[in-house]
Amino acid sequence: MISVEEALEKVLSYVGVLEPERKPILDCLGQVLAEDIHPTIDIPPLDNSAMDGYALRAKDTRVASESSPGYLIVVGEVAAGSMPTKEVRPGTAIRIMTGAPLPTGANAVVQFEDTDELSRKSSRGDLSQIGILCQAKKGLNVRGRGEDIASGDLVLKKGKVLRPQEIGVLASLGCSTALVIRRPIIAILATGDELISVDQPLAPGKIYDSNTYTIAAEVSRYGGIPKILGIGRDSVQSLTEKINESLDADMLITSGGVSKGDYDMVKDFLAEHGEIGFWTVCMKPGKPLAFGIMKMMEGSRERKVPHLGLPGNPVSSMITFEQFARPAILKMMGKKILAKPSIRATIKEDIVNTDGRRIFARVTVTRRGGQYHASLASPQGSGILTSLAKANGLAVIPENSKEVKAGDTVEVQMLDWGEEQGEVKTLPIVSIVGQSQSGKTLLIEQLIAEFKKRGYKIAALKHSRGGLEIDHPGKDSWKFAQAGSDAVCVNSPDKLAFIKNLDHDLDIEEIMPIVGLEFDLILAEGFRKSKIPKIEVHRKELGDDLLCSPGELSAIVTDGPLDIDIVQLPWGDTVAVADFIEKNFILNKKSKAC
Ligand code: AMP
Ligand code: MG
Repeated sequence: MISVEEALEKVLSYVGVLEPERKPILDCLGQVLAEDIHPTIDIPPLDNSAMDGYALRAKDTRVASESSPGYLIVVGEVAAGSMPTKEVRPGTAIRIMTGAPLPTGANAVVQFEDTDELSRKSSRGDLSQIGILCQAKKGLNVRGRGEDIASGDLVLKKGKVLRPQEIGVLASLGCSTALVIRRPIIAILATGDELISVDQPLAPGKIYDSNTYTIAAEVSRYGGIPKILGIGRDSVQSLTEKINESLDADMLITSGGVSKGDYDMVKDFLAEHGEIGFWTVCMKPGKPLAFGIMKMMEGSRERKVPHLGLPGNPVSSMITFEQFARPAILKMMGKKILAKPSIRATIKEDIVNTDGRRIFARVTVTRRGGQYHASLASPQGSGILTSLAKANGLAVIPENSKEVKAGDTVEVQMLDWGEEQGEVKTLPIVSIVGQSQSGKTLLIEQLIAEFKKRGYKIAALKHSRGGLEIDHPGKDSWKFAQAGSDAVCVNSPDKLAFIKNLDHDLDIEEIMPIVGLEFDLILAEGFRKSKIPKIEVHRKELGDDLLCSPGELSAIVTDGPLDIDIVQLPWGDTVAVADFIEKNFILNKKSKAC
């Protein structure tokens, strides 16, 4: 049995990026661009109006106001799509519509609302003149030529995943086709004597084949082209016939027939007609998962097709697809981000890991008080497909974790979030908040000592309202800053300090990248308003009120328990607080072997 990481590495090592193809832009949604786009035109091609109004010379409105309008003679009109036939000379204006080219001589557009046009129209006044009610600056409501795209620019880079907006950019440049990495063809075969196709009447002892449909929909969702082979029976002859139809595919995905039962022929077939890469993965559900290379004869030529043999149970089949087939499809399509975005969420129920496999539990994730909460979309049987229909995430319980308790933080893969969203990184940071005199600084000191004892590398973060202690007037570092340096770095043989002038009080998210990722845990004091995980220190003698609302807190440390639904840790018990932080915020390093 191999680990999830090893299995994925193996699958990915057998598939490569496919070749590019040129096709109509509307068919390219979600595909990876295989060429750089350098336009030969400017967009917009000419200076034009961003408003319906009057094109004029800014100078002519120098003293115009609502109480004393500047009057101009209207010499013409220009609509979008046509070219102006007249010039704007001093003292004149041309009525102009949004998108229409700016007439020669004009350098600003005043919108209708800032003219007296409406009152002239309602009083059937003279429209050969117009009163301007405001001063217009040069360039007002004018969209400059090439403002969006200038000819020759690199507008879209090779490797870009095409979303609707990029397809729009291509259209705006007059590109009707694009060169993109082609979509993989994925042959899908369900196996089992018990299966019936959805268009047939159900017979005793039979069930409808649902895996074909889940898998085909997944293939389409991730950009591949499903090629449905139908249902293979549990016999070598039936499997041979069906599998031969997958010759032109980039990958074959079967479901069922990979367990240890008498009729589980798929893995035996793979062993005989190909090469097994692995069989069984340290995960739950989805342990019986086969992967290898199916070898088939195309005339006298041997063709090799990567084959992923998913388990038959509908839940196992979809979860293993998500972990292995999805990244393989994305890689073939030339995508770089293969990981499903994951978040950290507080789990509502206990989860027990009895046999040391990585559990993928179906959960429903909600967001409350700036934090994610996950609840099991029970029941969790691997045949219960509706549990996946209820779920929007998979909580990942590491194989080395024997038990997860309600209230613990777990990693959750978000099923419906796109890969481009990237990993939502939860930094190993906790802030200790509390009223003054609650003992929060003392707790941080004790925690630092405790974590050092446990072998962790800790950074402490403190917001100092009254300025930095180390930055005194007269010191060289201070003199350098006074001379205009934006940052000063002072180092000694054993310490480094980086002092940077700021134009605003940084939020914690802005500070984090500066602190760097080398620490196992960052302990902060305060930052009550930020969204990082917080633990509040509470003392009975200071009253029952908390600084933060319970929904914003991961726990409280208190000497007088409160009647609220939140983890409460005993005040003075540093070990208990450190245990809580270690379990929930110090990122689990997943073991590779199983
Ligand atoms: P197997 O892996 O072939 O032993 O199948 C495990 C379980 O999944 C059995 O209860 C099968 O009936 C069920 N199963 C297998 N293939 C499908 C399918 N295509 N659609 C729905 N259920 C399936
Ligand atoms: Mg079967």
